Amino acid sequence: MNSPAVAHARIGIIGAGPGGLTCARILQRHGIAVTVYDRDPGPDTRNQGGTLDLHADNGQIALREAGLLDEFFRLARPEGQEMRRLDPTGRTTFRHVPAADELFKPEIDRGQLRDLLLESLEPGTVRWGHTLDTIGGPADGPRQLHFADGTTVESDLVVGADGAFSRVRPAVSRAVPAYTGVSFLEAWFDEVDHRHPEIAALVGPGGAAAADGERGLFAQRNSGNHIRVHLIRRGPVDWITDNGLGTDDTDGIRALLLDEFAHWSPRMRRMITDNDGRYVDRPLFALPVPHAWEHSPTVTLLGDAAHLMPPLGVGVNLAMLDATELALALARAATVGDAVRGYEKTMLPRSIETAAALEGAAEDLLSADPADCDHDEPRP
Ligand SMILES: Cc1cc2nc3c(=O)[nH]c(=O)nc-3n(C[C@H](O)[C@H](O)[C@H](O)COP(=O)(O)OP(=O)(O)OC[C@H]3O[C@@H](n4cnc5c(N)ncnc54)[C@H](O)[C@@H]3O)c2cc1C
Repeated sequence: MNSPAVAHARIGIIGAGPGGLTCARILQRHGIAVTVYDRDPGPDTRNQGGTLDLHADNGQIALREAGLLDEFFRLARPEGQEMRRLDPTGRTTFRHVPAADELFKPEIDRGQLRDLLLESLEPGTVRWGHTLDTIGGPADGPRQLHFADGTTVESDLVVGADGAFSRVRPAVSRAVPAYTGVSFLEAWFDEVDHRHPEIAALVGPGGAAAADGERGLFAQRNSGNHIRVHLIRRGPVDWITDNGLGTDDTDGIRALLLDEFAHWSPRMRRMITDNDGRYVDRPLFALPVPHAWEHSPTVTLLGDAAHLMPPLGVGVNLAMLDATELALALARAATVGDAVRGYEKTMLPRSIETAAALEGAAEDLLSADPADCDHDEPRP
């Protein structure tokens, strides 16, 4: 079958994360019809997590193409670019204070970014409660999207923007993400300025990292007087259950951590013990390097679905850049197949190069030597 003209194509994006929504927004700005499917039951059913820095050379380029850059700067926190390195006693060993006009990578909460993108879309663009199960149909299309609720939708182009454990990826690639051996354990702190002033002082207006070679943490201030801390540990993926604990056994996990961080100072240990609510386990996975696939004119990938890497500050930025390039390629090419080929020609070499630079870098988050963390700062 000949690849259809973009103007007549049915384009389905799987995943309403930053990548999928950016792609949909830019397509709509160019008058191209698109539908986004997401497994979440609705826009507010899941806490979107911490804060993200959007870089001038990728994430901000995407927002400019989306016509949302001014609104981003209205919401963003330039002061969040402050970065501290602490030692296990809580002493500050390095501090970057952003200049007054520094706007290279201001911070925005994930939830704010998602709302900004969602509100910019035509009503009804996102179909919530649609968990993709499998993709059927021949490689030259049309494709069938089979959802977990038993429904099927036909599509001329399927864009896999469905993150780390993509269900679109198997249509083009056999690669599966592997555990890096490093886990994040998320803890959060509310109303920090008056309820957790010592932690607020340690972290400051941006982020603070500490590590002793075996374990570490990365703390970051979010909007609304919150701080989110990621405790970074090396160990098996099932370390909580391996220790005879349940993932919601806050006291049991806390006791284990106190033992592991016993030689850290009491004020640093507050970031482990004084959290509001439970801990959330986030083992880090990455795709094999290099990851690429045979071109298909009817299926492509972007963001984590295409190039899941350790979280060192580039994931969201690359997802949004991929999304921009794919949308612009569709806006400019005669056929869907030409657009996908053109997009992958740029995206695949870039992501392979970045993934190679970050291969094994999850381990660097545990290093006591700041030079090892020079990729960017750790960016949970
Ligand atoms: C703990 C942690 C901290 C991070 N911190 C940073 C950071 O500070 N800066 C940074 O740049 N990157 C960071 N990253 C990486 C960043 O989160 C990702 O790179 C980024 O979110 C990728 O965007 P995406 O749109 O490709 O996928 P995602 O954000 O993962 O979005 C995928 C979407 O697809 C939906 N979905 C999944 N499966 C299905 C399905 N089968 N059917 C339908 N919908 C589906 C999901 O509900 C979700 O909405 C971090 C990652 C982790 C794990």
